[in-house]
Amino acid sequence: MTIKTIKEIGLGSGIAILGFLVWKGFDVLPLIFIVGFFVAIYFFAQNRGLVKPVGLHETSRRDDVTFDDIGGQDGAIKELQEALDFIKNFDQIKRLGIRPLKGILLTGPPGTGKTLLARAAAAYTDAVFIATSGSEFIEMYAGVGAQRVRKVFKTAREAATKQEKKHAIVFIDEIDVLGGKRGQHSGHMEYDQTLNQLLVEMDGIKTDDSIKLLLVAATNRADMLDPALMRPGRFDRHVKVDLPCKDGREQILLIHTRNKPVAQDVNLRDIARETFGFSGAHLESLANEAAIYAFREGSEEIKAGHFKEAVDKVMMGEKLDKRPNADELKRVSVHETGHALISELLRPGSVSTLTISPRGNALGYMRQTPEDDTYLYTMEYLENQISIMLAGALAEELIFNSRSTGAANDFDQAVQLAKKIVTAGMSSLGVVTEESLPHGKMHNVITGILQGQEKRVRECLEPYGKHILEVTNILLEQERLSGSDFRSHVFGREVSDHPEHVQNKAEAV
Ligand code: ATP
Repeated sequence: MTIKTIKEIGLGSGIAILGFLVWKGFDVLPLIFIVGFFVAIYFFAQNRGLVKPVGLHETSRRDDVTFDDIGGQDGAIKELQEALDFIKNFDQIKRLGIRPLKGILLTGPPGTGKTLLARAAAAYTDAVFIATSGSEFIEMYAGVGAQRVRKVFKTAREAATKQEKKHAIVFIDEIDVLGGKRGQHSGHMEYDQTLNQLLVEMDGIKTDDSIKLLLVAATNRADMLDPALMRPGRFDRHVKVDLPCKDGREQILLIHTRNKPVAQDVNLRDIARETFGFSGAHLESLANEAAIYAFREGSEEIKAGHFKEAVDKVMMGEKLDKRPNADELKRVSVHETGHALISELLRPGSVSTLTISPRGNALGYMRQTPEDDTYLYTMEYLENQISIMLAGALAEELIFNSRSTGAANDFDQAVQLAKKIVTAGMSSLGVVTEESLPHGKMHNVITGILQGQEKRVRECLEPYGKHILEVTNILLEQERLSGSDFRSHVFGREVSDHPEHVQNKAEAV
């Protein structure tokens, strides 16, 4: 519950209590007078800066973040640094007639380091850093948001003066909450007033001010922002902060293991390869979870096994206490072995882990290891992935002569992949758009693709019934099997752990 909600509940309850007292015949005038007196004192103190407005955070020197603490964002850092150099070297750029920037907009998925970049920008320019979030400005009372916007900018200027700094950075996270397109909110007058005030404040930033103020804002939804905010002269620079690539992930892991006793057997490059799609926040959590696993085991060092567990934890969620019964467990083992077997047959060396310990929404799962980050998918790749999705249910069918509801999620994903084949123009229909297809046509083509892969998987699994049962028994005993153990059990050989073009994917029941 936020402080804002608590205040609103408090106000509502206060009015209800007053109403009740009036109804009971009490004289509430003295009470109203006393409460009013204290509220007036509070607002007076807030206006004089004696009480900090809700949600305003000023960082101190102790928690300064520098660009060296941010991994995998070299492009964003370079662009940001250039913009900041305009502010730092104001006299130089003034001679060339360059106008310094008023606003920098950081856009990208959650947890990629936008807040870190803003804090590092403050350290780089030796600026006062005032952080707040878009949601802190939105109140049900008219005019409060606009007042808060004024307050933030005023606080930044005052703090810079007090600390004798030449620069101040105001950071607004989730700017889309306050800077969304005008006229689209139900209580839109209040939203619009708040945004208008922000525009006024931005226009009020002058190049010859004694304190140079810069607004840095972050959002995951730049498309939602009002065009008035995006025009040149307001947010002059847009910096994209994307999910890190493989090298970036390794850098971030290095940063977050700097202060941790990492064992010799840990290869951060391998972990980076396994974590395609992870953000910086995921990787920070991964390093932290690995350390927690080491602590739980009473280990002095964080070992490779702890990191593997941590990857599963971050990807799939915490281990659950629920224990399926013996029959269910056997079915889950067969299902996961089916996924793993087809994955290996189609792309040797691609299985990273298979386990039957319940985590998150899954009773068990098989995780693949990617060699490279993949951004484009071929027809062959998509068909192979569909086969891997279908393999769990088909292994169940081979061993038990029946399927279970555990495959529902796999089928969902298989259908999505088949749909991608159609909409990307790779199906027998050629280039089509979803809207132009007659009703039922898309369904027929998707069914055809799935049936084709079903037939292929059935044929592939057929000779491996004995192996599936063997691996199932081992899984029932050990709960978990590494990719290399799985390969040596099924194929009697060790295959490279790092195949090419395999997406990081967990197939879960
Ligand atoms: P949101 O959009 O959800 O506000 P964000 O992009 O602002 O997220 P941050 O708050 O900067 O993300 O990052 C959260 C945490 O994740 C950081 O405190 C840090 O520990 C870690 N982190 C994220 N990105 C990086 C990175 N590029 N390098 C190092 N650590 C990172």
